[in-house]
Amino acid sequence: MILFLTERAEVVDEYEDKLIRTVSTSFKLPKVLRLFQTHKISQNVKFTRMNVFYRDHFQCQYCHIKLPACELTFDHVIPVSQKGETNWENVVTCCKSCNTFKGSKTIKAAGMKLFKIPKKPRWSPELCLRLLENDPIEWWNFFPKSKIAS
Ligand SMILES: [Zn+2]
Repeated sequence: MILFLTERAEVVDEYEDKLIRTVSTSFKLPKVLRLFQTHKISQNVKFTRMNVFYRDHFQCQYCHIKLPACELTFDHVIPVSQKGETNWENVVTCCKSCNTFKGSKTIKAAGMKLFKIPKKPRWSPELCLRLLENDPIEWWNFFPKSKIAS
């Protein structure tokens, strides 16, 4: 709503039966917005614990289990004790069991395998839109079928 009200987005589609009322006017609730600019939100993705979880879809990068944030931790692929850095390329989402098992060993020494190579995301992970099968039908016209989450 802030993007729309500050004229940084335009309404592509709106709900016919849902109104938003202000003191002086009313308008239909937007259903689909088009951003005028995206570069300001796509640069400089902050390295945070929660953004690492979003990037990895809340999935342990060793055993593939999906868990809520409170049950996840993160792991340094190259351990800190071996000069591993705390950055997008060396930190992955990890369940507590895998983290305990791996400890301060390398992946090879622990006999573990990474689900995918960690990279800095190009988009702010929490802003990425992922459609699921049961999401509202009106979104399907604006989203390539190849990007539908499973
Ligand atoms: Zn795990």
